[in-house]
Parts: sequence; structure tokens; C-alpha cells
Amino acid sequence: MYSSYLLLSPNVLITSALPVVAEPEVKSQVDELVELLEQPASALLCKHCLNTITYEHERIEISGQHIHLKMNPAGFAFEFGCFCAAPGCNQYGQYHSEATWFAGCSWAISLCTCCQQHLGWHFRQNDENSSFYGIVLDKLVMSNPPEVSS
Ligand SMILES: [Zn+2]
Repeated sequence: MYSSYLLLSPNVLITSALPVVAEPEVKSQVDELVELLEQPASALLCKHCLNTITYEHERIEISGQHIHLKMNPAGFAFEFGCFCAAPGCNQYGQYHSEATWFAGCSWAISLCTCCQQHLGWHFRQNDENSSFYGIVLDKLVMSNPPEVSS
């Protein structure tokens, strides 16, 4: 790129051409970095204690959708989102394969690591090493909710 620039501008001295060539590239890299750093963190927090549970970028689709509405054997309905990881969750108790919402998966209860509130479930594929979290969306709040214009 540097050499083609010189070919296109044969009259430009190397000493003065160098900063002109380098500057816009470096500037755009810095701009990108600044933009990235200025982006609001996309954390999803425990509604009860504001512990960071997971992040927007951890949202995944299971069986073709991110949000699932399921009912447990006791008749309670839960609307939860599926997440690849949830560092703010602890598994509680054993994994169960009965009454599972996802075929081939066993589940354990997931609690907030900070306040121990029940947030959802950890699902483990029985024949693979993959797993995911189902977290009740009503129990999460965004760290930076979009501003509402008045
Ligand atoms: Zn909590």
C-alpha cells in the first residue's frame, strides 16, 4: 500500500508522505477501539441483588428459539431465555432427567451466586459435553436500560 501510494504520488517526499499514509489507518483503529469501550456493558443482572448473571452476547437459541415458555409438573409456567453461560449462577442440588423440558437433557436448579434467589435451570446434554442455562427473564434486569425519552 505504501509503495503504491508512492507510485501514485511521485512528487511527495517520503518523510512527509509517511504520516499521511499511516495516520488515517491508525486513527480508524483508535476510533474503533474507543467506540467499543464506550459501548454500554450488556450485562444482565439479578433483579433482586444486581449481581451480574450473564451477558447479552451469551443469548443462544435452543430448539430454534431463545425464549421458551414451559410449565413444570406443579403447574407453574416460566418464561425463560437460553444462555450459553451464566457466571452469576450456581447449580443447586442434583441433576434430574425426569420432567425435563428438553429431550436428552438433565437439569439442575440455578441460583444467584450472591443472593441465592432461584433464577432458572442449568441443562446438561446427557450424551454430550454441552450445556446451557435457562434463566427466567423476569428475574433479570439490564445493566444499562435504554433511556426513555420523555
Ligand atoms: Zn441475586
